[in-house]
Amino acid sequence: MGWPHLTMATGPGDVTDRTLRDHARQVTYHYDPAFIDFFARTTELAKHAFETANDVVIMQGEVVLGMEAAVASLVGPGDRVLTLISGIYGRWFKTLCDRAGAETNPLEVSPHDAVDPDAVRAALRAHPGVKFLTAVHSEMPSGTLNPVDQIGPIAREFGAISIVDASASVGGEAFHTDAWAVDVAIAGPQKCLGGVPGLSMLSVSPAAWAAMESRPAPLRDSYLSVLDWRESWIARRRFPYTISVSLVYALESVLAQTLDEGLAHRVARHSTIARAARAGVRALGFELWPARDEIAATAITVVRVPDGFPEARVRQDMRDRYGVMVAGGLGEFAGQQIRLGHMATGAHPVKLAAQLAVLERSMANAGVRVSLGAGVSAAMNLLGDWRA
Ligand SMILES: *Cc1c(COP(=O)(O)O)cnc(C)c1O
Repeated sequence: MGWPHLTMATGPGDVTDRTLRDHARQVTYHYDPAFIDFFARTTELAKHAFETANDVVIMQGEVVLGMEAAVASLVGPGDRVLTLISGIYGRWFKTLCDRAGAETNPLEVSPHDAVDPDAVRAALRAHPGVKFLTAVHSEMPSGTLNPVDQIGPIAREFGAISIVDASASVGGEAFHTDAWAVDVAIAGPQKCLGGVPGLSMLSVSPAAWAAMESRPAPLRDSYLSVLDWRESWIARRRFPYTISVSLVYALESVLAQTLDEGLAHRVARHSTIARAARAGVRALGFELWPARDEIAATAITVVRVPDGFPEARVRQDMRDRYGVMVAGGLGEFAGQQIRLGHMATGAHPVKLAAQLAVLERSMANAGVRVSLGAGVSAAMNLLGDWRA
């Protein structure tokens, strides 16, 4: 099978020429002084991307490592955790906390919806002694956004340390770690930053460090230990183990490109494209998966496929015949969704138009009644004042 012409799925996806070149730089020894400087610079760029003055640790594994490491380093047996669940990654946090022996109090809403901050406040009142709160900002499997801007400060007011998955947000969705009082934020390069998968970034507040250190048996000497990074890299410019140097080249590259563009510009670019994408799919007769536009993510547009819609056939036709890769539903949502990614280099009118044009064509090929051009037209209608 040939490679795709266009990848507009849930990340990873197409990267820029500059990212490709930087990723391919000669491999160095991780203790070479040039690499030590480079790693320090990458960490500084990550702090800017997270909008935080807290420490940021770059862990050497995909974002799921970041989620596991945060929970394993912070949460211990008997700790009370309020786990906010509006989708698959929110539920994953609960599974991780349960495995750590925590006493979890789930606050769960429909996967079409977002968590209500008033319900968070009520739950924190109802369960005194909650030590941690877990949340997902952008639930990519549902294409929804949770109001972490309000949830973070509520957690802090009740003395709960917040652990937030911002994987699908940083670089494409407004995410203000410090202004939103987020103690631990987790993200990776392969979503809105448009990078190469394989690393995770964690921002860690002083309260979160204190919670890790004050456990009866702090987690140390483990791939999952965030504390090891403080005691090696942050304290002494040593690494706990060999660094994925080429992935760090690629991460530095996408962080620099994101900050050169400007976070606010980038967020505006993603939200403009997302608005056009919603208009496009609605013109094709789809309903959105998120219950309301106000909670729709900017990195991805998730549609509910109607009963009897040949979802797998349409996606396969898009990929096999036209070389356009989009995503279907993840896990329990398989068969119920088409997920149209438009993040990083994908957040552009040219790519959105191609994605929608091929979606329409493949729907018609599969026998779905559709007026060719309707989706593209509705989307482009909203992009008249686009500026490169
Ligand atoms: C992509 C993503 C992750 C990382 O999970 P993968 O399955 O490895 O891609 C974690 N959390 C969220 C919200 C994500 O969108």
